[in-house]
Amino acid sequence: MRIRNINGTSQNTCKCGSWLNHWTKFSGQTVPSYCPAQGCFEEELVGAHVQKDSSSDNSWYIFPLCKTHNAATGQSLEVSDTYKLVSANVSQTCG
Ligand SMILES: [Zn+2]
Ligand SMILES: [Zn+2]
Repeated sequence: MRIRNINGTSQNTCKCGSWLNHWTKFSGQTVPSYCPAQGCFEEELVGAHVQKDSSSDNSWYIFPLCKTHNAATGQSLEVSDTYKLVSANVSQTCG
């Protein structure tokens, strides 16, 4: 799937402690060993705020990405379909 990294809202935290914890809690998945972006093998991951690319869905989601990709705001990325997008809307999740 293609996603687009949106501007780091890393100051915003939720009750989960970190956005990566938020992702593991609501995806039911474990953090990938490597960044799920195509061709990336970085191991240090964070919970990045992303949107679906080329979609009418403008919702914000959390997806695990490496720090480099997380910092690449606005970049469209091809990522593994193995991992789920988790809503970043805390009122629908941990809020
Ligand atoms: Zn949370
Ligand atoms: Zn990466």
